[in-house]
Amino acid sequence: MKCPYCENEMEKGAIQSAREIFWSNYKRRLFFKPNIDKGDVSIAPFGLNGTGKEAYLCKNCKKVVIDLYEG
Ligand SMILES: [Zn+2]
Repeated sequence: MKCPYCENEMEKGAIQSAREIFWSNYKRRLFFKPNIDKGDVSIAPFGLNGTGKEAYLCKNCKKVVIDLYEG
């Protein structure tokens, strides 16, 4: 995948976590669970052995491109 900022080839890898990963437009202090009604979007669901999602890294631009979870 080409970086949308600098157009160099991005490095393939994964975003990984011991917990569910989600995008939110507000910062959590408690209850780190996505709230779909408030606009949160899941990136990788919880898994017993951790979770992850394929992602592409550009070290030049310090950017990551990641697909959302399609569950
Ligand atoms: Zn770039």
